Amino acid sequence: GVKQDSSTDAQTKQPNQPIAIKEKEQSFEEIQAVRRSLPAYKVRHDLMRHIRDNQITVVIGETGSGKTTQLAQFLYEDGFTANGRMIGCTQPRRVAAVSVAERVSKEMDTPIGVKVGYSIRFEDQTSDSTKIKFMTDGILLREAMIDPLLEKYSCIIMDEAHERSLNTDVLLGIFKTLLARRHDLKLVVTSATMNADKFSQFFGNAPQYFIPGKTFPVEIIYTNHPVPDYVESAVQKALDIHLSTPISNGDILIFMTGQEDIEATCSTIIERLTEIYTKKYGANYEEQLADVQVLPIYSSLPADVQGRIFQRQEQNVRKIVVATNIAETSLTVDGIKYVIDCGYSKLKVYNPKIGLDSLRITPISLANANQRSGRAGRTGPGIAYRLFTHDSAMEDMYPQAIPEIQRTNLANTLLQLKSLNINNLSKFPFIDPPPSQNLMTSLYDLWALEALDNFGHLTKLGRLMGAFPLQPFLSRVLISASQYGCTEEMLTIVSMLSVPSVFYRPKEREEESDQARSRFFIPESDHLTLLNVYAQWKANRYSAHWCNSRFLQFRSLQRAKDIREQLLYVIRKLNLPMASSGSDWAPIRKCLCTGYIQQTAKLSGLGKYVHLKTGMDLKVHPTSALFGLGDLPAYVVYHELLMTTKEYINVVTAVDPLWLMEYSGIFYHIKRRKEQSYQFGLNSSLNNDDQDHQDKIDLQIEKLRLNA
Ligand code: ADP
Ligand code: MG
Repeated sequence: GVKQDSSTDAQTKQPNQPIAIKEKEQSFEEIQAVRRSLPAYKVRHDLMRHIRDNQITVVIGETGSGKTTQLAQFLYEDGFTANGRMIGCTQPRRVAAVSVAERVSKEMDTPIGVKVGYSIRFEDQTSDSTKIKFMTDGILLREAMIDPLLEKYSCIIMDEAHERSLNTDVLLGIFKTLLARRHDLKLVVTSATMNADKFSQFFGNAPQYFIPGKTFPVEIIYTNHPVPDYVESAVQKALDIHLSTPISNGDILIFMTGQEDIEATCSTIIERLTEIYTKKYGANYEEQLADVQVLPIYSSLPADVQGRIFQRQEQNVRKIVVATNIAETSLTVDGIKYVIDCGYSKLKVYNPKIGLDSLRITPISLANANQRSGRAGRTGPGIAYRLFTHDSAMEDMYPQAIPEIQRTNLANTLLQLKSLNINNLSKFPFIDPPPSQNLMTSLYDLWALEALDNFGHLTKLGRLMGAFPLQPFLSRVLISASQYGCTEEMLTIVSMLSVPSVFYRPKEREEESDQARSRFFIPESDHLTLLNVYAQWKANRYSAHWCNSRFLQFRSLQRAKDIREQLLYVIRKLNLPMASSGSDWAPIRKCLCTGYIQQTAKLSGLGKYVHLKTGMDLKVHPTSALFGLGDLPAYVVYHELLMTTKEYINVVTAVDPLWLMEYSGIFYHIKRRKEQSYQFGLNSSLNNDDQDHQDKIDLQIEKLRLNA
């Protein structure tokens, strides 16, 4: 009891809580004036004529010219929804879909979710009267699975096509045949200035329309030496600019890779500035601090906080926006004069040789660097500071980014295509085909999950899996749960895995927050720890206050609750039995093994693991509940692989290797595992009490191998 109580007084300020700031709402008149000033508006009639005259139009324009916010409105005003159909506009990013929908509904002076709506995974803000629907490309792909002719739409805008997101690429392929079957459907593909020809060619030389726009020169300044810490360098640069130039010069946009370094950058800027101002102005420092507003933007940030990057500031306030590559082309922040570019972005990278997906911080391409720099030259000449050397730009960076389809696991996509009865993948019109090795390993993954049979056809299980908006291994776990009698629990776990971390770890209170987190630990499992957090939150009537005092992100939990309801709806629709395993947690851990069959690792030394399939060395993420055990468990399954300075596995659960054999279903793996274990040798310092157990398993594996 004492343990629990000591945390209640630790009131934490959540990062997402709005801070009172001076903001000016744009009036409707002002908004209309801005609209009219956009390059797209000026060519409106010409542009619409092109779209009316062609089934497919590729629209090209500088970022900020009004493609995203105006095109759908023009189509609407020209009567494209008069036949009862909608105008759909896809975005590769969730954040952009929401933000743009909100902007357009404001421009049209209607509440969001009615005439103008948006739909992103697990969040639908549309109604029967929706005419313009913004959505992620993933949502449209899902809709195509249910309604292959996309009958609801009269026109689709594939926005930000130059991003070449996986789902956009797949949709482009689907449109190739779809457009031949629906002559009345219009397709508008929009692109920033790069890559546009490729889209025209793909659609048999579809006409291009250029929106003329003015851009200003941007001076590019490289560092002389590689920077050891880009967060530190970015902070330094931002402070230099802020302290040495008049605020009226313009705002600062910093490109970082993700939530972690963005938050670090934001808080360090404020910290340093507080120090400097305290020295300079003494007690009045707080007043002075109001001359700058530091605004983070990344995908998991709540929408209302995101919206703040667009709000106009008082004259004498400087905005410092710290963003992921979302601000490269998807969102245009006006008034940026200085860009600071760390030169990296976080990418999902798939290594088909070893069949692993991971998140990696990777150098951006030159084309991306130029897009980033370009953000400084929208309203006047600007300066872009690149936190890398000219040499490394020339030598280490690709000229263009590699499209996602060529560097990602395709299991999910293939499952969707198979659900669309697209079975012959070699014939699918990919704009850039994925490497065949990617295709093969992804098919293998689906087969291993029993979603495909030996002929590569969708199984009954596979069809069920395709009904969930989840990664295949998660939908597999969820479906298995109905056999293991733990659907209630697994629903919670899967939902918790689908939201940004529920644990809040502010920089200056790391120890305290780690302690609060450890009170929820179920030592053998991070998955069960997540379940525990949710169960306690529920027991406390889903209270926000309860979260705040325990370093838990209320919003993430709320979202998990919401997602849980939606997944439950799918389960009901599929008639899968619901059950709870009560206080017995073994079925849950067993059940995890049915989906995480390739995400397994074995203890190989002090605090070290080795991946069962690939032999890769791994470490358990330091935040794991597993460290609460006296010794780390011999075998684990994990949720994700993070590659930062080390290879970490994150969200980990101890399992009995017998379960892996018994429940993974396909012992093909086990054969491989055996081979692998020969490869890296069982002689490693396996100081394991379980040696007996282990021998037994090896024996069984041997037997299976002989039988096979
Ligand atoms: P494009 O798609 O061609 O890059 P957009 O249509 O996104 O251009 O942007 C056009 C203009 O609308 C820009 O000046 C941008 O700053 C502004 N804008 C876009 N979204 C918002 C928003 N949520 N709030 C205020 N202004 C916005
Ligand atoms: Mg746009």
